[in-house]
Amino acid sequence: MEPQYNKISKQLSNNFKEIVGEEFYFNDYEIRWTYAFGCSIFNKEWVPDLILIPQNTKQVSEILKLANENRIPITPRGSGTSLSSGSLSPYRGIILDLSQMNSIIIVDIENNFVEVEPGVICDELNETLKPYGYFFPPDPGSSSVATIGGMVANNAGGIQAFKYGVTKNYVIYLEVVLPDGKVLNLGSKVLKSVSSYNIKDLFIGSEGTLGIITKIGLRIRPLPKTRKLGMFIFEKVDDLKDAVLELRRSGVVPNLLEFMDKVILKAVTEYLGGEFLDFPNGYVLLAEVDGNSKQEVDDAFAIMLDIIIQKNPIFHKIAINEEDRERLILARKANLPALSRIRPNTCVEDCTIQISKFADVIKKVEEIPKKINAKNLLVAIICHMEGNLHPTFLFNENDEQDIKDFKKAIDYLYREIIIPAGGSITGEHGIGKIKTSFLELEHESDVVDLMVQIKKFFDPNMILNPGIGKGDTRSLNIKNHKRILEKKSDKILELKCMRCGFCISCPSRINYILETYSPRGRLSLLNGLVYGELELNDLVIEVLHTCTLCGHCQTVCPAGVNTTVIFEKAREIIHRNLKDH
Ligand SMILES: Cc1cc2nc3c(=O)[nH]c(=O)nc-3n(C[C@H](O)[C@H](O)[C@H](O)COP(=O)(O)OP(=O)(O)OC[C@H]3O[C@@H](n4cnc5c(N)ncnc54)[C@H](O)[C@@H]3O)c2cc1C
Repeated sequence: MEPQYNKISKQLSNNFKEIVGEEFYFNDYEIRWTYAFGCSIFNKEWVPDLILIPQNTKQVSEILKLANENRIPITPRGSGTSLSSGSLSPYRGIILDLSQMNSIIIVDIENNFVEVEPGVICDELNETLKPYGYFFPPDPGSSSVATIGGMVANNAGGIQAFKYGVTKNYVIYLEVVLPDGKVLNLGSKVLKSVSSYNIKDLFIGSEGTLGIITKIGLRIRPLPKTRKLGMFIFEKVDDLKDAVLELRRSGVVPNLLEFMDKVILKAVTEYLGGEFLDFPNGYVLLAEVDGNSKQEVDDAFAIMLDIIIQKNPIFHKIAINEEDRERLILARKANLPALSRIRPNTCVEDCTIQISKFADVIKKVEEIPKKINAKNLLVAIICHMEGNLHPTFLFNENDEQDIKDFKKAIDYLYREIIIPAGGSITGEHGIGKIKTSFLELEHESDVVDLMVQIKKFFDPNMILNPGIGKGDTRSLNIKNHKRILEKKSDKILELKCMRCGFCISCPSRINYILETYSPRGRLSLLNGLVYGELELNDLVIEVLHTCTLCGHCQTVCPAGVNTTVIFEKAREIIHRNLKDH
């Protein structure tokens, strides 16, 4: 049985306004429209009914209680960088934008923890910890914009997970608000405790389906003092896999162990140019060790180098200083920008396998376009070598055939490759709203039933983030899956914008606190205008004119979208349009 939701009446809308105050309540269609865009396929039916930006736990509690009593869906959102549509709202209702609850409340070095609100940005937390010689290790590629709340809700990882683990390894306590408004404190400020069931961990990776996270206690670690990195290129993926398995047997634990396939290396070398053009094409392994003394790191690196060299890489380069390291690591950081230049859309999938199956799985993933007979679809593969693969599909979402092929490709990936290999359908990006139908492939139906019961225990009216498989009913899962992939994606401007959200660090978005005033938001508005979904009204004109053309967005845009030129041009057209009428 699908849960039934109600529409937000005028009276109810006003009640929500009273809770957060007029300043943090938004119901203009144009503003809501920009919250239907995320780093995944766009669907115009998903425009939420209301945006609320709470300032504290009390407001979150009051909002949830009211929404629950009136059966209004609530979708929590940090920075909206989810790669699985986690923070989009297929059932509309309220988007609870937690980005402004962003204080670092406690930094306690002696007791080894920090306490933060959910909207704190990952990199900002690490900037605060740096002078103390400490850090919070999980480092997703989106760390410059991802919120800690979003990271906990998704159990985010990153490129140092091989040694340092993922977000759940650091969460010691949580404050969460349940749908009935109850505020729970879970876990403890001490580093060890077995005095209760571990309810806190249920919320980590629950993607906002059980409660809203309003405070987070995180363990922190001393920053390693030194590190050493090497880049190795192999002709054969089997040799690379053998090197990694041998490394595992040796006991050396690299802090960074990353894989890129041939498609990526080619794209990256063409994108970066310079010395990279001299690198031979092949499968890349980036490997780094870190530690507290040069001697310790040199010794570990020597063992690692010896192991890798014995597996016949066709090329290797060792960073002799930090500058060198930065250049080599750029090859990894440039993956998405380089790929996004090949096709308009770059969709990063996420799954895990046992590392011993690595080479076989890579070969099968490389063959996907051929197997499904897709002419225009390309696949490139990135992998964190704890077994977390990111097959990345390149296509054009405005092309109907491409969308069909993309759907076939992900079906093939999970049904024919990952599940038969005993893998998991997501390692760090979550089920979101795009993988619900695959959930039962991985888990027995008794386990899925238990998940549904847990969901109903915490959220009997199913108001929290409906559409995410883990807590949803099965019929709902299938319906959502169809909605997103069998329906042709709504028209989107053919830009190379991946909607990754890196540009939300834009000064005007920080000033106006809304997604709408970020470059990503402005591009969403232009999309609406171009395809006749929005009208050129005062609000749209204002949003497009609050851009100061400072160019910050272009410096952080992985895809090199020429935003300032686009916005200048848009203003020109608007002025011409206004003069003509
Ligand atoms: C270019 C790029 C690179 C990326 N690299 C990585 C990577 O290396 N590793 C990785 O793990 N991920 C990666 N991601 C995915 C994503 O950035 C992370 O999952 C990130 O943690 C999401 O943070 P956010 O603030 O944007 O959350 P959002 O996208 O806003 O939300 C994510 C999920 O959490 C829920 N949520 C948000 N806040 C709360 C809260 N306070 N309480 C309850 N639920 C909440 C949302 O409903 C949603 O389901 C990448 C994304 C991009 C665009």
